[in-house]
Amino acid sequence: MLDHFGRELPREGCGFLAGSRNLAHRFYPIHNQTPDLRRFAMDPLHVKRTEVSIFRRNQRILAICHSHPEGECYPSRWDIESAFFDPALRWPYWEKEVQIIALLSDPEAPRVRGFRYRVGGEVEEVGLETVATEVGNISTSP
Ligand SMILES: [Zn+2]
Repeated sequence: MLDHFGRELPREGCGFLAGSRNLAHRFYPIHNQTPDLRRFAMDPLHVKRTEVSIFRRNQRILAICHSHPEGECYPSRWDIESAFFDPALRWPYWEKEVQIIALLSDPEAPRVRGFRYRVGGEVEEVGLETVATEVGNISTSP
């Protein structure tokens, strides 16, 4: 996930973490189709194709991820509002899936935090844990 986000700089990168139960096994990058450097908008066709691959692997989307090249490791107002209205993603993903934000302002020490967006725009932090057995697995604790 962080490799993909690094390659997308100075744009925001985005994608899904998918797996089973609460263990993410794999990151699926999604094309960010907005020219705006401070937002992301997932390409709807790419989302559809990716959902099919995830389904075929018997996995499900656990987290919707994007990067902030600079600024805060916290959802922007636009992140929260768009999560409620983005038709490409067939929300209401927002209620169950974790939203992961990676802040890349310090390339040596990227920060990664998980959140859930609640109705009314409330943001709740979710604990993330990296499991060492396989490369890059991230587990979300409830
Ligand atoms: Zn954002």
